Amino acid sequence: MYYGFGFFYYDWTLLLLIPGLLLGLVAQSLVRSRFRRYSKIRSYRGLTGAQVAAGILADAGLPEVEIEVVGGRLSDHYDPRTGKLRLSSEVAHSDSVAALGVAAHEVGHAIQHSRGYFPLHLRNAVVPATKIGSWLYLPIFIAGLIFAIEPLVWVGIGCFTLILLFQLVTLPVEFNASSRALAVLKDHGYLEPGELTGARKVLSAAALTYVAALVSSLLILLRLLLIAGKFNRR
Ligand SMILES: [Zn+2]
Repeated sequence: MYYGFGFFYYDWTLLLLIPGLLLGLVAQSLVRSRFRRYSKIRSYRGLTGAQVAAGILADAGLPEVEIEVVGGRLSDHYDPRTGKLRLSSEVAHSDSVAALGVAAHEVGHAIQHSRGYFPLHLRNAVVPATKIGSWLYLPIFIAGLIFAIEPLVWVGIGCFTLILLFQLVTLPVEFNASSRALAVLKDHGYLEPGELTGARKVLSAAALTYVAALVSSLLILLRLLLIAGKFNRR
């Protein structure tokens, strides 16, 4: 048996994963540094993230969406199952340009949900399959290599593509929530043009983390395919 864990972990294709890892690290640090920077810039109207979120929700005809303040840094999200908009206290209670950008972005997800925005529903629909795929792909793939059962290798790769599919449909969902956020912040005068630039920078850094995740997964897929190809030629 040629294929053991040693081969699997240490062959040259491991190098393929490095650019994805680096891009992920760059994106993460960009989010943190931009959020920190624009958290210090207060918006001229002085409304907090929670106030702006409530205002946008009311204008969108969604007063039933409850705003909940939660702990943690950048833990802000919209929960489609409970219909709750959860804002970190840093965002909810701050009148900074960064806080307003993040709050409006999360409201963007609530509006997508209520308007039946297709990519969001598709993403929610593939979540269970993605979870199963991410648990199973590696054990199945490695078992296929160890026991030299080629179909298992391909089943493992198939499971991995479920993760890719999820990350792919996440992109339009996130980009759309940010463009909705920036449009409403501008149109309703929550932020002035100069302040909008700051909010846009925070949101584009956040979007880059989703792009980095997809790039990383594409490189992992390439690696799995190369390993499967070697397996095939024997
Ligand atoms: Zn989002």
